[in-house]
Amino acid sequence: MALIVQKYGGTSVGNTGRIKNVAARVARRRAEGDQVVVVVSAMSGVTDNLIKLAREIMPLPVEREMDVLLATGEQTTMALTAMALHALNVPAVSLTGAQAGILTDGVHTKARIHNITPKKVHDLLDQGNVVIVAGFQGQTTDGHITTLGRGGSDLTAIALAAALKADLCQIYTDVDGVYTADPRIVPTARKLEEISYDEMLELAGLGAKVMQSRSVEFAKKFGVTFEVRSSLNDNPGTIVKEETRSMEDVVVRGVSLDKNQAKITLVAVPDKPGVSARVFKALGDANLNVDMIVQNISHGSGSPATDLSFTLDKPDLLKARAVIDGLKKDVRYQEAIADEKIGKLSIVGVGMKSHTGVAGKMFETLANEGVNIEMISTSEIKISVVIRLDKGEQAMKAVHAAFLGS
Ligand code: ADP
Ligand code: ASP
Ligand code: MG
Repeated sequence: MALIVQKYGGTSVGNTGRIKNVAARVARRRAEGDQVVVVVSAMSGVTDNLIKLAREIMPLPVEREMDVLLATGEQTTMALTAMALHALNVPAVSLTGAQAGILTDGVHTKARIHNITPKKVHDLLDQGNVVIVAGFQGQTTDGHITTLGRGGSDLTAIALAAALKADLCQIYTDVDGVYTADPRIVPTARKLEEISYDEMLELAGLGAKVMQSRSVEFAKKFGVTFEVRSSLNDNPGTIVKEETRSMEDVVVRGVSLDKNQAKITLVAVPDKPGVSARVFKALGDANLNVDMIVQNISHGSGSPATDLSFTLDKPDLLKARAVIDGLKKDVRYQEAIADEKIGKLSIVGVGMKSHTGVAGKMFETLANEGVNIEMISTSEIKISVVIRLDKGEQAMKAVHAAFLGS
């Protein structure tokens, strides 16, 4: 008898017909004698809609209340999924994240899991139940509801698989697995049989929303091998696991495009020690994640000034603006310009460690497409560029064709 954690994403539970499909799949697995824990997301569109409602009340709602609101999405699905199993005569019990023993820190809307005490889950499984757990949520030690960042049901599944020492962790979604690029943008993208944690981590962090990046980080840390596959067919998916030797033979594993980035430029910041520290300390204190940073060369000789640009997630823009506006008196920049029309295009592969000429080929491909590069950042296994958003998909297709074929 195996213990299996299966996670079903928003589209897979998008309507009652899909929820019945999930129940049928789970029932089949249980009939084979396995214990099944099912992690569910909110039905597709529900979380977005709740965010929209909150913003109709006020632009920057208190984050604690956002979490109370957003956690309801997954709670709807968990109860409906339990009912769908009951309709098939399968005993099933649904649990909120808190009831499942998921404890987090208090950083509302982006909480990190501290620990999981899955005693109740074990007890209910041992009594013969399928256990349905609401994804994306937990609670603080003081009992406040928290959520784990967008796409956080992936993290619930992987963290539960680790805590339960599950034999198998399967992430069911609306595509057959992890592709060389988002198949909705690049029709020639190919499904990967396997991918290393590090590559998946980079792709996820750079816009391939098929997996939440924090969940991959967690899987790597605790050595949870998992499979990404479709809830709509029985095709084998993609195995995400520790890097193996042969993986380095492939230079570029995948291409991703993050359309969810924004850029802030502080114009004419005084070029003197401590200014960057003040700006990025203030952003960090507000729990804002800054990604790329570029500082131009100094201009002016009397009191030299420089332009300072950085990128961050688009949903954080309003909050970041408030922090930056609050620094105006202290930092004395001339103006702050926000730009939401950027995209971040990246190529990722562990093979880059041992191959040369990759950046040159990427930049040449972009030049041939007439795409201007505004910012560049690299690591051992990735190259990212910031470009105009409206050129993003064209650039992605061209770069995919250059490295992965068309
Ligand atoms: P779920 O609701 O199941 O969590 P998501 O919408 O979060 O599903 O993630 C699945 C989507 O991720 C796919 O529909 C696909 O468009 C997108 N995606 C982006 N990049 C990739 C990629 N490299 N491989 C597969 N899917 C990708
Ligand atoms: N419902 C949440 C979201 O849309 C979490 C998830 O689906 O994983 O981000
Ligand atoms: Mg998702």
